[in-house]
Amino acid sequence: MGTENVQPSIVQSIVQLTQLDKILGLGRANSLWPMTFGLACCAIEMMAAGASRFDLARFGAEVFRPSPRQCDVMIVAGTISKKMAPAVKTLYDQMPEPKWVIAMGNCAISGGPFVFEGQYGIVEGADKFLPVDIYIPGCPPRPEALIEGILQLEEKITGTRRWPRVEAG
Ligand code: SF4
Repeated sequence: MGTENVQPSIVQSIVQLTQLDKILGLGRANSLWPMTFGLACCAIEMMAAGASRFDLARFGAEVFRPSPRQCDVMIVAGTISKKMAPAVKTLYDQMPEPKWVIAMGNCAISGGPFVFEGQYGIVEGADKFLPVDIYIPGCPPRPEALIEGILQLEEKITGTRRWPRVEAG
């Protein structure tokens, strides 16, 4: 049977043409695999986000992996000491592409309460040595804030928002 008499609108309703990277982005965004890696107190909230009460699994990002080789998102949750920074960078380098970084909490964003004149022990923000995609402020941020950060990362990957935004008020 020839296709010359078939209306283009009918063909479009049957066949969704899209780019391969859009499909891959959708798959990646809906199944982010974070690295199991906590640096300080913010990591407790990260763990709570993955547990039953906040249930990060609802958003497809609950599969925390023990190896950087199996991860695509690093959640920098806590204070980055200067001693620990090279290890954090090594773990990031070991993650396969494509990969993303979330700076969770004020310490990971800018050093948090440990910034004072003459401080010598901490790195004042993950973006001093990592390409941070999402910043989640708070000391510590609540698990809901981390979930919102995951949703914002999904949006960055796919270009569309999967869940409605909750307005503060
Ligand atoms: S931001 Fe606050 S809660 Fe988070 S690691 Fe720093 S001091 Fe701890």
